[in-house]
Formats: sequence, C-alpha cells, structure tokens
Amino acid sequence: MIGLILFKIIAVFILGLIFGSFGQVVMERGQNKKSLNGRSKCDSCGKKIAWYDNIPLLSYVFLRGECRNCGKKISWRYPATELLFGIVFVLVAWQKGFIFGWLDQRELIDTIFYLAISFVLLVILIWDLRYMIIPDGLVVGGLVLAVIYFGYRYLISPDFLMSVNTDLTRNFLGGLAVGGFFYVLFMVSRGRWIGGGDVKLGFLLGFLVGWKMSYLFLMLAYILGAVPAVYLLLTKKVTAKTKIPFGPFLILAGFILMLWGEVVWSGWVWLMR
Ligand SMILES: [Zn+2]
Repeated sequence: MIGLILFKIIAVFILGLIFGSFGQVVMERGQNKKSLNGRSKCDSCGKKIAWYDNIPLLSYVFLRGECRNCGKKISWRYPATELLFGIVFVLVAWQKGFIFGWLDQRELIDTIFYLAISFVLLVILIWDLRYMIIPDGLVVGGLVLAVIYFGYRYLISPDFLMSVNTDLTRNFLGGLAVGGFFYVLFMVSRGRWIGGGDVKLGFLLGFLVGWKMSYLFLMLAYILGAVPAVYLLLTKKVTAKTKIPFGPFLILAGFILMLWGEVVWSGWVWLMR
C-alpha cells in the first residue's frame, strides 16, 4: 500500500516536472512568437540541447547549472518552475483523492480537469511574473476548459433542467462578481490600479471558485498581494510607482480556494459568527 502511494506521488510529480518544462517552452516561444516545434537551445550560445541534457530538474543538477557547450549559467528559473509544477500537481492529485484512493470514472475526470486547469494557471503565473503579461489565449483556453467541465457536471447532475440554482450558474455568477469588480476598478482608475489582463483572469478564477467563494477570493487575493508589496516598499526595493504583477496573487488565492475552499470557508464562517 505504501509502495503504491509512493509510486503515485512520484508519477504525478514527474508528470508535473514534464509539464513545467513544457510550460516554460510555451511561455518563451509564445512571448517571442516562435513555433512550439523544434528543439530547445542554450540561452547563451544558442547550441541545441541534447535530450539527455534536457531532462527536467535532473539535467540541471547533473550539469551543475551550466551549459555543457559554453559553460554559462543556466537560469535558476528553469528548475524552480519545474519544481513548482511538480509540487502543485502532487497537491492537486492528493486533494482530489488520487494519491490515497481508487477513483471512479467521475473522480478521475475531476482529477484530470484540475490538473489541466492547474497547468494553464501556472503558465499564466510564470508568464506574468516574468513579463508582466497575462496572455489572452491562455485565459480563454482555461475558460473553455472550465465551461466544458462544469457543463459536463451540470449535464450529469440530478437537477439538470430542473433548477436555475446549479453549480454552472453559480460559476458564472462568481466570474461576473470577480471580473465585474476588477472591471469597475479598471474603468475608474483608467488601468492604473489593475491591468486589463487581471480583469479577464479575475473572471476565469471567479468562475472556478464560484459565487459562494467570490468575495472570500477577493479578500484573500488582496491580503496575499499586500504582504510582499508592503515588504518591498519597506525595504525600499521598489517605490510606490513600481508595478508588481497582481496575476500571481490572484492565481495563488484561486489555488487555495480550489483545493481547500471548504476548510477556508468553515474558518471564515467560524470567525464571523
Ligand atoms: Zn551554452
């Protein structure tokens, strides 16, 4: 039993590493408008990287963080990103019941959906951190994925066609609440308080966490965003005019509520009683 659990953890972790590696390719080539085909090259000397030097995490360790050809440092971002994807994939699979149990078909679809949407969100996260851009294509792709998944859940649910008060409607209301709130901020400040990309990402995350969690989501995102902003301002690493990407904090809040929403919700209700 322990063996099987370990095997599942390692398998999902490796899957995360591979998707982390792929996610960086999507980001770099998307940012530089290059196709996804063709092998990776060294950032410094441009030499093509052999497959055995392109194994997520392991190659970085074996090469001691240096290119085999030119000896220049390989960015720490590569292994850090792969590790991030690996850890998040394990957390998602664990939280959706895959690590410790046997899933029926429906639960398996749940797990696959949450891994797929995590991939999309993590690529948006690293993209916004690196380039301060939230690519529309990924937000739209995530939304299509989410509509298909929650649409499927609606179709197989017992209140199909019986009630307007379904998960799917609550998802749309959540999207409208968060996206609408950001849209108002965006219009009032003419894009100074919040970026247009954040408005669309807010709609996607509001859709994912649903109406019930939408204001909790907003609070959590602002609390998470304020901590590093205050730290950076106090240590004078940035001035009040420096832009800090907000997308990563939105996504972090989204992950917390997607994975541990009910726990956070109970805690909140307990605090407010
Ligand atoms: Zn090189």
